[in-house]
Amino acid sequence: MKQVGAHVSIAGGVANAPVNARAIGARAFAMFTKNQRQWRSKPLTSREIDDFHAAMAREGFSPDVVLPHDGYLINLGHPEDDPRQKSLEAFIDEMERCRLLGLNRLNFHPGSHLRQIAPETCLDRIAAAINQALEKVPGVTAVIENTAGQGSNLGHTFEQIAYLIDRVEDKSRIGVCLDTCHTFVSGYELRDRESFEQTMTTFDRVVGFRYLRGMHLNDSKPDLGERVDRHHSLGQGRLGLEPFRWIMNDPRFDNIPMVLETIDETLWPEEIRMLYGMVIP
Ligand SMILES: [Zn+2]
Ligand SMILES: [Zn+2]
Repeated sequence: MKQVGAHVSIAGGVANAPVNARAIGARAFAMFTKNQRQWRSKPLTSREIDDFHAAMAREGFSPDVVLPHDGYLINLGHPEDDPRQKSLEAFIDEMERCRLLGLNRLNFHPGSHLRQIAPETCLDRIAAAINQALEKVPGVTAVIENTAGQGSNLGHTFEQIAYLIDRVEDKSRIGVCLDTCHTFVSGYELRDRESFEQTMTTFDRVVGFRYLRGMHLNDSKPDLGERVDRHHSLGQGRLGLEPFRWIMNDPRFDNIPMVLETIDETLWPEEIRMLYGMVIP
């Protein structure tokens, strides 16, 4: 069973996320658990937590279809110790917010070396941070998102993701989210059936589908290998619709949150309907 949705707003409170998701016909959703552009947010109140649980039950969502996304300021691989520590504390806070909301995963971008340290050193710092966060917060899986590889952002090759997973002690709480736009712009072809299969076979061999905990379904403005992070609405970018048809009919993507981060949110209801319409019974 495919669980498709979108990254919905928490304006007015986190309890609005499941409501917003239901309103667009989503069976899954992504959300921030705080303002994604600020370091600090007020702790969640017990009222906010209760309201969220009630909204989840009322709108009919289980935690397994929710893929929270961490804030944009966090860089677990920061070359300098103070900013990395600040990032780690913010990351742990976000894991804790997920736990309090009854959610079981947190999607994050691995981090950036900022051209100050070797990529491998940066990956080591990220892996150590993941271990520290997992030790601090029980019950939440850290879900590494593959990136576009823009600037000095790491996580744009399957090998880098495997390198991180290798170094995480608790393998039961590390996962991966594949973003179709990032996969493509980082250099993995998806547009013809053979290349799509080859990319997924490579992912399975290098990382392993057993770690897949979510998908981001986005078309792409940049072309193959351009390493620029610009999403587009489904069918309007370089990927076209075919890769999404293959995903929607591939059991390897069953039972995980598959989330649109496409640029025109007024199209989300239509995009969700179109994706479900692609499923061959
Ligand atoms: Zn992301
Ligand atoms: Zn994404």
